[in-house]
Amino acid sequence: MTTVNAYAASEAGGKLKPFQYELPDLGSEQVDLKVHYCGICHSDLSMIKNEWGMTTFPLVPGHEVVGEIISVGTGVKNLKVGDLVGLGWSSGSCMHCKQCMEGSHHLCQTAEGTIVGRHGGFADKVRCHWSSAILLPEGIDIKKAGPLLCGGITVFNPIILAGVKPTDKVGVIGIGGLGHMALKFLNKWGCEVVAFSSNPDKKDQILAMGATKVINSRDPKDLESIAGSLNFILNTTNVTLDWNSYLMTLAPKGRFHNVGAVLEPMAIPTFTLLVGEKTVGSSPIGSPALIRTMLEFCVRHDIYPMVEEFPMAKVNDALEHLEKGKARYRIVLKA
Ligand SMILES: [Zn+2]
Ligand SMILES: [Zn+2]
Repeated sequence: MTTVNAYAASEAGGKLKPFQYELPDLGSEQVDLKVHYCGICHSDLSMIKNEWGMTTFPLVPGHEVVGEIISVGTGVKNLKVGDLVGLGWSSGSCMHCKQCMEGSHHLCQTAEGTIVGRHGGFADKVRCHWSSAILLPEGIDIKKAGPLLCGGITVFNPIILAGVKPTDKVGVIGIGGLGHMALKFLNKWGCEVVAFSSNPDKKDQILAMGATKVINSRDPKDLESIAGSLNFILNTTNVTLDWNSYLMTLAPKGRFHNVGAVLEPMAIPTFTLLVGEKTVGSSPIGSPALIRTMLEFCVRHDIYPMVEEFPMAKVNDALEHLEKGKARYRIVLKA
């Protein structure tokens, strides 16, 4: 038995409190991590509030873990004690379905979520299947790497899915935690990058992150000025937008991709799609192999989120800071 010292919410929307639990004997395919850092993702807030109706309490949130392997199951071949690894939204999958066999473990229908029906990384230790413990590339900055494991892969995967080319003109909607990482990726990808923002105060910072141009998303004239020009738009917001005005900024064959969990159904005008062969899509996180590829890309190009660090004991202050929209741009807890 292993005792874990964690922070848990005991009811929907409740404050996190110190919480201890026991892990049973380690399974042959499992590994235990000592947590060094854990990012805070908007999904942690949604799960604490049970917005998606799938939270079990007590809940230990945290699914952007950077840690160190402290024990490995007898069947684990690729990891050893002392390895530095990252753990994101997914903590394991069946390893035998078509999706898993194709390398899309994140699309496995029985994939296990790190904070769904089990306890996550706002703790001194966390357990997962070996396939979800992503070996960190050498030279990575572990203080800032946490948010790459959920937020980062969420915006990196669409670049691959959409086949974005370095010659493309692209747009990013919402320059917050996810959006600012998307700007950095697309800039290093070689693209011309338009940032859609409704906050003019952020303009200089947004340009410094790699945007070529900032468009005021509240100004119809600004949107019209780039009509028909973008090959790809990544929407990182989770609110209903004037979809048609964004679709009009897409070039023919352009793709509009959502990674924000908009709860309301999207009213998409078919005609705008039809005449330009445009598509609208969406995706969650990404595969373990792609997470590793992304981390290597980040080390090569020095791409990291801008982070604010809080000690884990101040987790409630950190959550409040995020909820008030004050995070610039991602929060990391130090264990
Ligand atoms: Zn599977
Ligand atoms: Zn997340």
